[in-house]
Amino acid sequence: SEHQHICIGCGVKVQTEHPNELGYAPHSALEKETIICQRCFRLKHYNEVQDVSLTDDDFLRILNEIGKTDALIVMIVDIFDFNGSWLPGIHRFVGQNKVLLVGNKVDLLPKSVKPNKLILWMKQESKKLGLLPEEVFLVSAAKGMYIKETAAAIDEYRNGKDVYVVGCTNVGKSTFINRIIKEVTGEGDVITTSHFPGTTLDIIKIPLDDGKSLIDSPGIINHHQMAHFVDKRDLKVITPKKEIKPKVFQLNEGQTLFFGGLARFDYVSGGRRSFVCYVSNEVNIHRTKTENASELYENHVGEMLTPPRQEQLETFPALVKQEFTVREAKTDIVFSGLGWITVNEPGAKVIAYVPKGVQTMIRKSLI
Ligand code: GDP
Repeated sequence: SEHQHICIGCGVKVQTEHPNELGYAPHSALEKETIICQRCFRLKHYNEVQDVSLTDDDFLRILNEIGKTDALIVMIVDIFDFNGSWLPGIHRFVGQNKVLLVGNKVDLLPKSVKPNKLILWMKQESKKLGLLPEEVFLVSAAKGMYIKETAAAIDEYRNGKDVYVVGCTNVGKSTFINRIIKEVTGEGDVITTSHFPGTTLDIIKIPLDDGKSLIDSPGIINHHQMAHFVDKRDLKVITPKKEIKPKVFQLNEGQTLFFGGLARFDYVSGGRRSFVCYVSNEVNIHRTKTENASELYENHVGEMLTPPRQEQLETFPALVKQEFTVREAKTDIVFSGLGWITVNEPGAKVIAYVPKGVQTMIRKSLI
């Protein structure tokens, strides 16, 4: 209909087409006297936030609003995909506000990883990206690890102010907030969403005990993540569910690794050496000679080299390459959203291939 419905919870325009996007409500909700979007409904009735995504422009608008407020900002990143899940430009939007950086999904990293070293690494990377967080935390929202400590720090740093939680989709923002809600309110407390007449905030406020709020903002989709190029069913394959078991490959020059059909890694020069692969345990790694690699890919992508699936091949982007020279010991070659390969000794020349649109990069080793 021509009539525009507005959610009384968050002020967003209500739509009935896209369940994972902002403002979704089922048709039946429109018949009610007061209309509430599904995200606010879930918070109100189940004390649970749900992840929804936004277009880039809308997201920038929200970040802008956040910059103008006086609040604590909690930014969540996925530690398994640190750079891929970074909010581009966040440093320009935080304004004078303090930021706490939370690295989620720490349960995925091998037990050998030292948390303090990783936190230091995160601080250095943040600085390079222009952000100086007050503190950095490693948590597992799914497993409930270090939530108490993080909740306590949020309460300390907010200093009586509102708290904005930001992050791109899939970093585990909803899981994190839901944990925090339980931590802050205890189970059973009913949370209500509040109404802001005349404004479209697209954010939902979760009341804290001093009248301030924990504010959930929608996530932004990072278009260069591998997740957007795989079938929904294959997301389970590339997204690690438990502790990653690093796989070590001794390679000679002129050897190639395929990660399913999603990525390819050529070892060009640097003598026989080992490469440590950190990808989901379910991703199939196939070794071959570089001279045969292109032909192998053409003949077997979609079957032996999968994902992608056969039926996706028509739309699946071609692999594009980027060459890297490893100049320092302990360097990672990163395939955004899929994982990384650690090179322990300097002096290697490698080529990384990913579907056109996905990012590859080189960084100081995270582990
Ligand atoms: P949002 O889009 O940022 O709100 O993310 P969600 O909370 O919906 O989580 C995205 C995906 O990450 C889901 O499949 C979660 O199960 C998973 N996830 C969230 N937190 C963790 C965590 O601490 N560890 C692991 N391994 N997975 C997590």
